[in-house]
Amino acid sequence: MKKIKWLLPALTSLALAACNNEPKKSQDDTAVKQEVKLVSPEFDADSAYAFAKAQVDFGPRIPSTKAHADCAAYLQNKLRQFGADVSLQTGTVKTYDGKSHQLKNILASFNKERKARVLVTAHWDARPFSDQDPDSTLRNKPFDAANDGASGVAVILEMARQIQQKQPNVGVDFILWDLEDYGEANDSTPEELTWCLGSQFWAKSALAKANKPLYGINLDMVGGGNAQFTQDEVSRQYAGDVVKKVWDIGNEIGYASYFVYITSGRLIDDHVWVNKAGIPCIDIIHYSDNAGFYINWHTQLDNMANLDKNTLKAAGQTVLETIYREQPAP
Ligand SMILES: [Zn+2]
Repeated sequence: MKKIKWLLPALTSLALAACNNEPKKSQDDTAVKQEVKLVSPEFDADSAYAFAKAQVDFGPRIPSTKAHADCAAYLQNKLRQFGADVSLQTGTVKTYDGKSHQLKNILASFNKERKARVLVTAHWDARPFSDQDPDSTLRNKPFDAANDGASGVAVILEMARQIQQKQPNVGVDFILWDLEDYGEANDSTPEELTWCLGSQFWAKSALAKANKPLYGINLDMVGGGNAQFTQDEVSRQYAGDVVKKVWDIGNEIGYASYFVYITSGRLIDDHVWVNKAGIPCIDIIHYSDNAGFYINWHTQLDNMANLDKNTLKAAGQTVLETIYREQPAP
């Protein structure tokens, strides 16, 4: 039954994707969008791109490096500049290689007094090595992590900039997770505990219990070319209604080629730990069971040259629209 239920929309979207399969798909998206009246402010993809570049310009944001410390300061300053209430959650954590790191989760809130809230998160750390690079001699080298890290944070910064200019009807919390991507490639623990150290740390802390948001949206690799966001099993199981809401909005406002109605298997990402903390949370991530992750995932080519503003726009506008459509009871 479940498979049949998902099959129809999947086929429809595949058929649509086939029709729109020209390289100019963003033009089609634009044409559709003009008929749609957005309640959210216009998400500026150029601005988001610049926020990604600013992070990459620090160098790889690897825990316990100067680039990491400098970028943490930059992100907090930016969010403060945009009028958010910013705080830092710190702690000492040990990575699988036995090293200790000072963890920095960055929290930013708008409209703190509002009870009805939405949470949007992304990891800001960079994986210390490009262990998926096709060239085996490069696999212990750091990489820019423009998509895997900087893109989700860039979308959040642009959303914060927009929220400062026009408040939505709900409060908004952002969390930038540290140490998501320092996991062991062959982690065979059931919950892959060497990954997502920042969100694990937060989920076990008192911060996760205070004034819980209605739901959460995690962004990961939302800036790659030809991105397809599928609906992973964890998101569907814990937060099926949120998946439907966000995907339907994405399709309605012109981003059907990104928000595809295709399911995927269980993904370990920061949304897992938000869900464990009792907040239904989805993952918007460039992944499919067929093609795997973003093509340059954990390789030297995850750089600014391979970021696509159209993808940043699709993810950013869809999440922004989702937030601005919320009409909580007063
Ligand atoms: Zn990663």
